Amino acid sequence: MKNIITLPKTTYLIVCILIMVSCNQTSVPGTKEHIQAVTKKIDDNRLQSADDLPGDWLSYGRNYSEDRFSALNKITKFNVDSLGLAWTLNLGTTKGFEATPLVVDGIMYVSAPWSIVYAVDVRKGEIIWIFDPKVPREYGEIACCDVVNRGVALYKGLVYVGTLDGRLVAIDAATGKKAWEVLTVDQSESYTITGAPRVYDGKVIIGNGGAELGVRGYVTAYDALTGDQVWRFYTVPGNPADGFESKAMEEAAKTWTGKWWESGGGGTAWDAFAYDPELKLIYVGVGNGTLWNREVRSPQGGDNLYLSSIVAINSENGNLEWYYQTTPGDTWDYTATQHIILAELEVNNQSRKVLMQAPKNGFFYVLDRTNGKLISADPYVYTNWATSVDLETGRPIETDFSRFKEVNAQIFPGPSGGHNWQPMAFNPVTKLVYIPARDQSMIYGQPLHWEYNKDIRAGNIALGGDKNAVTRMDSLAPDEKGMLIAWDPIQKTDVWKVVHKTTWNAGVLSTEDLVFQGNAEGFLVAYDALDGTEKWQFNVGSGVIASPISYMVDDIQYITIVSGWGGVGGRFVRYTDQLYPGTIYTFALGENEDIPEYPVMTKKLIDLEVAVDIGDIEQGKLVFGQYCNRCHGSPGTGGGAYPDIAYSNKAVFNLFSQIVGEGAFLGKGMPNFGDRLDEEQIKNVKNYILSAAKDLRNDKDLDNQTNGNIH
Ligand code: CA
Repeated sequence: MKNIITLPKTTYLIVCILIMVSCNQTSVPGTKEHIQAVTKKIDDNRLQSADDLPGDWLSYGRNYSEDRFSALNKITKFNVDSLGLAWTLNLGTTKGFEATPLVVDGIMYVSAPWSIVYAVDVRKGEIIWIFDPKVPREYGEIACCDVVNRGVALYKGLVYVGTLDGRLVAIDAATGKKAWEVLTVDQSESYTITGAPRVYDGKVIIGNGGAELGVRGYVTAYDALTGDQVWRFYTVPGNPADGFESKAMEEAAKTWTGKWWESGGGGTAWDAFAYDPELKLIYVGVGNGTLWNREVRSPQGGDNLYLSSIVAINSENGNLEWYYQTTPGDTWDYTATQHIILAELEVNNQSRKVLMQAPKNGFFYVLDRTNGKLISADPYVYTNWATSVDLETGRPIETDFSRFKEVNAQIFPGPSGGHNWQPMAFNPVTKLVYIPARDQSMIYGQPLHWEYNKDIRAGNIALGGDKNAVTRMDSLAPDEKGMLIAWDPIQKTDVWKVVHKTTWNAGVLSTEDLVFQGNAEGFLVAYDALDGTEKWQFNVGSGVIASPISYMVDDIQYITIVSGWGGVGGRFVRYTDQLYPGTIYTFALGENEDIPEYPVMTKKLIDLEVAVDIGDIEQGKLVFGQYCNRCHGSPGTGGGAYPDIAYSNKAVFNLFSQIVGEGAFLGKGMPNFGDRLDEEQIKNVKNYILSAAKDLRNDKDLDNQTNGNIH
């Protein structure tokens, strides 16, 4: 007794902490000790058996199969009407929020625009730490589709994030301090990372994006604890004169023509991964080529492997085991990077290990994931580039206008895809896949006089379209719309469908009897999983594109969604009166917290004198189309995650040449174009915008419009 009493205070404290860590139920939730204890337990075994831990959400797609199904059943269609707001957290970010949060014992990790990571205490609704990787804002220009980040990975006390500038960073989960980082790309090229890393068998897997601007795609595996590179799998071949990295690249090169390697070829793997630990196969979705159009990319034709393919890679050595190409010789930006889900399905009275994907091209694929053989492929949205997929050859049957040789053609789906990055979900009870989908077309035409130029980066995007060519419109075209489709992968048909007002909506979560999805009008909605009946909705006031999650803390089931409008479909349009900062909304039964109030922003069309003649305005319009339109949209569209310049405030607009030509707003992500545009061009762009605003003011229909057009 005497000995214990005379122990020095610090020793006593250490003994206490050791006792708390060794039986962590007693450590205080949210403390470093608690976070260390619960995150260090996340090992390969836990990640593999995620279905046994429904209270947590430990990886991007919830489990290796990425089914985004929560087995928690306290919230059901019979009581969801009492679901209310438990807490909100304003993260103060602008731009798109695509991230799926991860949760372990009430500690939430979520990534934000510019690859910033937040640790949040769910029990308090408070931030624990913020990790900012300080991505240089110049990267805003080469991020094709907004400066988003779709999520983090967790493993043995570390949080992993891929940064927009191409780094993989491991962060101490308890302190928010960087443990290590590794550069995964050549930063002189136009690579970006927006996708979530995954951890399989002690390795962190990370891909990249940038095919729109000209890069060569690949996936890299790093040792999860040290960051040492284990293997790298290229998705497209390099210059044959330099030799091939693998047999897979040698085979792929036979399907390419011309000098594709000069622009990199593309094929970036920027989103979808899934893992079968028994087969030791990592499934990767591969994207489109550089340039989109095969006529330019590979002029003598060819399938251009492994573009628009699902590749199965051996997790030990990174070797290709099989591939399935959804769109041979892609010409439409039909990436196969969309969400991949693994499941066991009864096909013709036989249990099959399947892989399911709804890539951009509009067909829903079911593959045998042991060997890549096609089981079925059926259109889940309106498609007119191909009529069907041949089950013997696995190849699409293209229509005669699909490659728009001498015409410009309205083709479904367009480059936004029948389905994009927004995650779908598979419900093992209803056996349905819930797909956030759209009917949307684009008029494709041959790009004229395109030449790859590494130095102009964003200037490389060339959609094309010959003004003198006839445009073939589709007389059977459906209305353009977004949809939530409940797809039966066995019957190969939709079972129910909810039609949205607009095309760009949010990812999906399924519980046993409900499907949750956010939308562009700012609602989070719960639908009956069996028939699509709306059971509950909540208005957050600002567009939602991310996926909801469900998890349990101290016996309470929560639903969390992060709102933050943006992404490729939200750059220059919006469908709510206002856009709010990135905000976490967390719901539980019987709760009724107030939604946060944000200041109302109003804006008017800019009214300043147009100071150049009409010829210069036309030249300004051309420059705007090449450099500005991709983020800001045409003047007068109303603005989305990026401002509509026609609605600029006068004081800001008077800084036009400093902003465009000297980088005055680089900190906000506005590139400095001073190295590519001369004073004359900048002046012409400025006057083009003023002239467009003047035309809009003169339009009577817009006389009373003070808040931009809302589409
Ligand atoms: Ca693309």
